[in-house]
Amino acid sequence: MLLRLLLFFVLACLFLLLLNLLLSWRKRQHSLRSHDHWTQPKEMVLDPQCQSYLPKSEAILRGEHYFCSEECVRLYLSR
Ligand SMILES: [Zn+2]
Repeated sequence: MLLRLLLFFVLACLFLLLLNLLLSWRKRQHSLRSHDHWTQPKEMVLDPQCQSYLPKSEAILRGEHYFCSEECVRLYLSR
């Protein structure tokens, strides 16, 4: 009887520990992401064809210029 109670206690402790770990991990992930968001704003680049700014991650790089679309690349190179 005592052994069973002890086992139950240990299991409960483990469960709480795991829950705590999971919560702190999620909190850390969240703060890491928001930290990134504030310290590294999206770098904007200028499309020389249509004169619009767009995030570098979404831009198409041709030579030393960034474009918003293949259409702009084509128009820019053909002029
Ligand atoms: Zn464009």
